[in-house]
Parts: sequence; C-alpha cells; structure tokens
Amino acid sequence: MTYEVYCKDAGAVSCGGHVKAETEEEFKQKVVEHLKAKHGVDTPNDTLMAYLMSARREEGKAGA
Ligand SMILES: [Zn+2]
Repeated sequence: MTYEVYCKDAGAVSCGGHVKAETEEEFKQKVVEHLKAKHGVDTPNDTLMAYLMSARREEGKAGA
C-alpha cells in the first residue's frame, strides 16, 4: 500500500510538495515533518491530520 498526499489537494495550493510513504505510520510521520519544514506547523492538530489523511490517495488496493 502506498499513501500519498499532495498539499494542493489538501488546500495548500501554494505548496508544490507532496508526501509519500509505504505505511500509515510512516506517512503520518512524513506529513508531520513536511508540515514543520515547509509550512511552519510545529504541532498539527487533530483536525489538520484528519483532513490530510482523508485527502491522501491510497494505491495498491485490491480491485482499485
Ligand atoms: Zn506542503
């Protein structure tokens, strides 16, 4: 399973970055790192994380 989210899909249209990972755990970690590095967000709140998780694309799902 590949988790991937583009910032523009999550509403941050000025950011051309995206985050990609193989596991949900790694994905969350990379999202947090990206938010800190590129968006100046030290501690993303639950609302933001939930939004990003919902905006992510999951590849490799059976039947998808
Ligand atoms: Zn970004």
